[in-house]
Amino acid sequence: MKATITLLPGDGIGPEVMAEARKLLEAVATRYEHEFTLDEALIGGAAIDATSDPLPPATIEKCERADAVLLGAVGGPKWSDPNAKVRPEQGLLKLRATLGVYANLRPVVPHPVAAKHAPLKPELLEGVDLLFVRELTGGAYFGEKGREQNGQVAFDVARYSVSEVERVTRRAAQLARGRRKKITHVDKANVLETSRLWRSVVTRVLSEEFPDIAFEHVLVDAMTMHLLHRPASFDVILTENLFGDILTDEASVLAGSMGLLPSASIGDGKSGLYEPIHGSAPDIAGQGIANPYATLLSVALLLRHSLGLEAEAQAVENAVSQALDAGVLTRDLSATGAVSTTQAGQWVCERLRDSA
Ligand code: NAD
Repeated sequence: MKATITLLPGDGIGPEVMAEARKLLEAVATRYEHEFTLDEALIGGAAIDATSDPLPPATIEKCERADAVLLGAVGGPKWSDPNAKVRPEQGLLKLRATLGVYANLRPVVPHPVAAKHAPLKPELLEGVDLLFVRELTGGAYFGEKGREQNGQVAFDVARYSVSEVERVTRRAAQLARGRRKKITHVDKANVLETSRLWRSVVTRVLSEEFPDIAFEHVLVDAMTMHLLHRPASFDVILTENLFGDILTDEASVLAGSMGLLPSASIGDGKSGLYEPIHGSAPDIAGQGIANPYATLLSVALLLRHSLGLEAEAQAVENAVSQALDAGVLTRDLSATGAVSTTQAGQWVCERLRDSA
């Protein structure tokens, strides 16, 4: 197939992990006889430095035209003045809204090698296979915000409409159908009006349109504990923007390293935005030691969700899993004998090329 993929390396370790993703996409194209056009553009701090805009119009245009977008990471100390008018993260928030990617998918499946680095007892991690579906373009992050009374009072409005909840609930249910058919909806319905709306819409959509899916509602404060006590008892976890942001970072601890978790942000169309869950890691940027696997696994999600290439997606996931099995580990996972970012990326590409 022919596809155009826009690559947004961004800041810090972003360009380092993106270089490996590019090589992997080229390897997939060669191995499976596809024609991928890889088109790079600026975002975040790199874009502020070049154009004073964290999401320049040229980047928006390239992203809107593409079949899918792959992002490294944005941000870093150089642009982190809290009083600055333009900030790297604004570029990412605006891109998500522009592309209309309202559902953020984060699979968490701890690999046995990485699980050694997780602070939880190994037996609690057995059988853990979670898929978070976080609403991404509504709630407090996108509502009206401001200051009153000479800056002494601040507010962030959390607002959700029925249609916003319906569409992300349907997405979660469709994904649950390909898995263990269970949804845990997380809210704070005992206190928040937005949560009461979510609870009633989720209940209606799932019972009327998806009678084959089992579901439950769990309060977010209780969920923070259940995730650590019995993570294997959950399948798809559906939640709003702010709770999803916090819970998915908590769940990343189950996987042992930030460097292993991919994410996909999708909307109604085929296109989507794919990125590792980690940030730009300024503390290790430029040293060639960043773990590229989260970005390579994001490539797998891109192949699956935007290009419909399931066999290719699985081949990438298998190659990364085999790299972990074979002990091809960057420094976050192995203090001794660690490989470089490039060596890890190359190992995965070679395994993919050799795969039957
Ligand atoms: P971070 O994820 O960048 O780093 C947290 C810790 O994890 C660091 O010690 C880092 O070295 C390590 N780490 C992260 N990714 C790694 C990888 N691939 N391999 C090995 N180690 C890795 O989070 P932070 O330090 O809180 O934020 C740094 C910057 O990134 C900030 O400017 C923040 O705003 C930004 N950020 C961006 C995104 C994004 O682009 N989506 C997400 C989170 C944070």
